[in-house]
Amino acid sequence: MFKTIGVIGAGQMGHGIAHVSALAGAQVRLLDTAESALDDAMERIADYMAKQAARGQIDKSEIDPALGRIVTGTDYAMLYDCDMVIESATESEVVKREILKTAIQNMLPDAYLSTNTSSISITRLAANTDRPERFCGCHFMNPVPAMPLVELIRGLATTDATFEKFKEFTEALGKTVAVSEDFPGFIVNRILLPMINEAIYTLYEGVGSVSAIDTAMKLGTRHPKGPLELADFIGLDTCLAILSVLHGDLADAKYRPCPLLVKYVEAGWLGVKTGRGFYDYAGDTPRPTR
Ligand code: NAD
Repeated sequence: MFKTIGVIGAGQMGHGIAHVSALAGAQVRLLDTAESALDDAMERIADYMAKQAARGQIDKSEIDPALGRIVTGTDYAMLYDCDMVIESATESEVVKREILKTAIQNMLPDAYLSTNTSSISITRLAANTDRPERFCGCHFMNPVPAMPLVELIRGLATTDATFEKFKEFTEALGKTVAVSEDFPGFIVNRILLPMINEAIYTLYEGVGSVSAIDTAMKLGTRHPKGPLELADFIGLDTCLAILSVLHGDLADAKYRPCPLLVKYVEAGWLGVKTGRGFYDYAGDTPRPTR
């Protein structure tokens, strides 16, 4: 288990990784460019831990020490003593490359490096750092404290020893590992995102309304969330970014992002995180928008 972990990006995934790492006993340095994201993250972590205690999943006495192990900030110098840093910022290769470049300038030379990317080549991201052999993809699921899976993805240069360190880390968090080869979208998003995209095409072509599509998939195929509800939960910007990687890197028209998804993202309708996507989240219960 890593003792001191840096998490870059404090959005829905980054704050979740900080949450489970701190509960497992690690010191956590949570970094974001936006102070507001850091404040929100600490609030969400505290709220979710309280819920976990109420459900009997953790002991109430674990909460304060775990929260005390998380330090937040905007300065990369805080990564100086981390033995592992995981990048979990916006799904953009340009953004991630820049973050990794700055991170390595502030990290111990023998510290491990990781990314929570949903789709981007681990080999390519690793090759742009000074430590591709100490780099491993670590794809957590959303919400991190509740979801038992982590996909581990080796880059071409990842050593066996590095892979074992990350396997030990994810298992110490109580997660189950699925190993994926380094292909766009790995396993989960290679399968999930084409389904979500098809649900959006189904809406776009007028085959069904938002509620008809989600009801059909929940009651007809036993999915716990409908695909449009799930897309809003993931974030429509993240869905579009993943589909664009699948479409670009696999060069296959079957991954072409639905124009309606593109329009929603252009409008800033990103789902739950902005209060509007395929549902409107202003009221007590989400209301379908089409
Ligand atoms: P998000 O939009 O909730 O949060 C992204 C965070 O990154 C924001 O707080 C933003 O301020 C921060 N950020 C942006 N640029 C930054 C920079 N240069 N330096 C530091 N912080 C920066 O996104 P998310 O859903 O948490 O996704 C983060 C990563 O996790 C992405 O790579 C995404 O593909 C992956 N992921 C997402 C999900 C999901 O369901 N949303 C699931 C698994 C993996």
